[in-house]
Amino acid sequence: MANTRKPIVAGNWKMNGSLALLKTFIEEIGSSEQLETVLCVPSPYLSAAGRGEYILGAQDCSSFESGAHTGDTAVSMLKELGVEYVIVGHSERRQDHNESNELVANKVQTVLNAGLTPILCCGEPLEIREKGTFKEYVLEQLAAVKNVCGVSFLDNTVIAYEPIWAIGTGKTASPEQAQEVHEFIRSNLVSWNEAGQNTRILYGGSVNAGNAEQLFAQKDIDGGLIGGASLKIEDFTVIINTAKQ
Ligand code: PEP
Repeated sequence: MANTRKPIVAGNWKMNGSLALLKTFIEEIGSSEQLETVLCVPSPYLSAAGRGEYILGAQDCSSFESGAHTGDTAVSMLKELGVEYVIVGHSERRQDHNESNELVANKVQTVLNAGLTPILCCGEPLEIREKGTFKEYVLEQLAAVKNVCGVSFLDNTVIAYEPIWAIGTGKTASPEQAQEVHEFIRSNLVSWNEAGQNTRILYGGSVNAGNAEQLFAQKDIDGGLIGGASLKIEDFTVIINTAKQ
């Protein structure tokens, strides 16, 4: 890692895994001074997952604090279970649940209000990449959060750039493609507030044991949000060790 921001490797199990798999992760994933290892398991597993040495993360939360919202999870409940990070605005939630930029921004604010850290996802679909307007697209996603939360969100938010065309497809952005967008995001964050210099920006999209090293070597890539490869303990361990270098 070529900077002073502490790297993060965050696993996102999505709607996968089992209690048996979780047991292996609890036993084998340790904590480290050199990076933060975060495990975002499905919400029914959060209680059991709290016994691990990694940092506990959730995959979503409600934008409301409490009330008549059947099936949703309040951030205060996540906090009671020891959750520290909450993924917000993952592209699968934006797609499956029609989550708008504004709703995502409200969720970021709710997470921050509870004293937890949002992992705010952004990233463009394939047609926007091909059209060449991907930077504008990503900036609009982030600006919506700035408009609702104010620039101080940068102090306590982790951003994950995840081009949708690279998620779960095996088609990774090249290190140069990823760095180009990360640098663009960083320069915009810094233009909003100097704190943006310290905001960690993770890359996500088919990161695996073989490509992590080159991606993490980029100046503005501070670690990864890992989907598929976070379900395989051997691969996830290699990615964690790569981020320590
Ligand atoms: C993700 O779930 O955020 C992700 C990046 O998935 P994958 O690593 O499988 O592409």
